Amino acid sequence: MPNHMWMNDDHIAFADTVKRFFDEEVTPNKDTWTEAGVIPKSLWKKAGELGILGATFPEEHGGLGLSRHFDAVTFLEQTKAGDSGWGVSVHNIAAHYITAFGTDEQKARWLPGLASGDKVAAIAMTEPGTGSDLQAVKTTAIRDGNEYLINGSKTFITNGGSADLIVLVAKTDPSAKGRGVSLIVVETENLEGFAVGRCLKKMGMKRNDTAEMSFTDVRVPLTNLIGTEEGQGFIQLMKQLPWERLILGYMALGASQCALEHTLAYVKERKAFGKRVMDFQNTRFKLAEAATKIELLASFCDTCLTELEAGQLTAEKAAMVKWWGTQTQCEIVDECLQLHGGYGYMSEYPISELYTDARVQKIYGGTNEIMKEVIARSLDID
Ligand SMILES: Cc1cc2nc3c(=O)[nH]c(=O)nc-3n(C[C@H](O)[C@H](O)[C@H](O)COP(=O)(O)OP(=O)(O)OC[C@H]3O[C@@H](n4cnc5c(N)ncnc54)[C@H](O)[C@@H]3O)c2cc1C
Repeated sequence: MPNHMWMNDDHIAFADTVKRFFDEEVTPNKDTWTEAGVIPKSLWKKAGELGILGATFPEEHGGLGLSRHFDAVTFLEQTKAGDSGWGVSVHNIAAHYITAFGTDEQKARWLPGLASGDKVAAIAMTEPGTGSDLQAVKTTAIRDGNEYLINGSKTFITNGGSADLIVLVAKTDPSAKGRGVSLIVVETENLEGFAVGRCLKKMGMKRNDTAEMSFTDVRVPLTNLIGTEEGQGFIQLMKQLPWERLILGYMALGASQCALEHTLAYVKERKAFGKRVMDFQNTRFKLAEAATKIELLASFCDTCLTELEAGQLTAEKAAMVKWWGTQTQCEIVDECLQLHGGYGYMSEYPISELYTDARVQKIYGGTNEIMKEVIARSLDID
C-alpha cells in the first residue's frame, strides 16, 4: 500500500488514533446507522474530543492548528475503514469557509462548536433547479434592516437532517450572476421558516442524512455574511473548491485501498476449478492493475497536497485529481466486485457497499464533466 513520503511520527500517531476511532466507534455500528439513515450526534462529540474535527482549525478557536496533512489522514482512515457515510468531509469543508474568509468574531463564534462536535455543519449549494451552474442559484438573502431575509430551497444536502450550522449559497443581489452570490451562515436551532424535508433514499452513502431543506422568510443577522463584503461568495467558493476536490481524491484513494484489501482476502480463500481464485492469471493481473493505480493516485494526491499547503494548487490540477481519482476508484471497485463473483453483489460483503458508495464520487463536488471543462478551459488559452 502507498507510502506517503510526508508522513512523519506525528502523522503516524494521529493516523493510529483515527484508525482506532473508526475500528471501535464506527465499524461496529455501521449496520445500525445504515438502517437509521443517520449518524448519531454522539459520534461527532467523540471525534471532537479526539481532535479529529478541529485538527486544522486555529488553536485560538478550539482547533489544533495543524496542516491539512492531518485532515488528509482522517479522510484516508475513514475510507480505508470502508466508510463514507459519515459526513465529516462536508463538516470540514463548511468550517474551512469560516477559517479562510470569516472575521475574527465569526471564527470565535462558530469554530469552537464545530471543533468540539457540539455543532454539525453542512454546505448548501445545490437547488432542485440547479447544481452544476452555481451562478444560477435562486435562493435569495435580501437585506432587511439589520437582517437578511432568506427564501429558497436546497436539495441533496449532506448532513442536511442533523446540521446545526449551514453555509448557505444565496444571492444577495438576484439581478447579478456570480457577483450576486454570497455565503451566509444559517444556525438552524429554533429557526423560524427553516424546514428540513425528507431525508433522501439513495443507492449508496445510506448512513448519511442527505436532505432537502427550505427557507421561508428566514431571518438571520447581517453579521452572518461570511467575510465583510457581499457578492464575494462565488470567489470564495472558487478558492476553496480545490481543497474539496482534493479531499475527494484522498477519499477515492482510501476506498480503493479498502476494496483491494477485501478482495485480496476473498480471492485467497475462494476456490474454483480446484484452485484459489487468486491463482488465475486474470485475477493476478486485475489486482496488479489496481495496486498500480492506487500508487499513482497516492502520488498525485500527495503532490496536490504539497501544492495546496504552499498555496499553489491550481483549479485545473484539483479538477484533475477529482475526476481521475474518482474514475479510478469506480474502475477499481468494479473490478474488485467482479472478482467476488455473486457474493460481491450481496450486501453482507463490504465490496457491495464500496461499489454503491463509489458511484456518487463522480457526481458531487462538481461532476467529472465539469472537472474536464475546468481543465480544458485552462488549455484553451493562446
Ligand atoms: C449523495 C449526494 C450528496 C450531495 N451533497 C451535497 C452537499 O452537501 N451540498 C450541495 O450543495 N450539494 C450536494 N450534492 C449535489 C451535487 O453537488 C450535485 O448533484 C452536482 O453538483 C450535480 O448537479 P445536478 O445534480 O443538478 O446535475 P446537473 O447540473 O443537472 O447535471 C446533469 C448532467 O449534465 C452534465 N452537465 C451539466 N453542465 C454541463 C456542462 N457545462 N458541460 C458538460 N456537461 C454538463 C453533468 O455533468 C451531469 O452529467 C450532493 C449530491 C449527492 C448525490
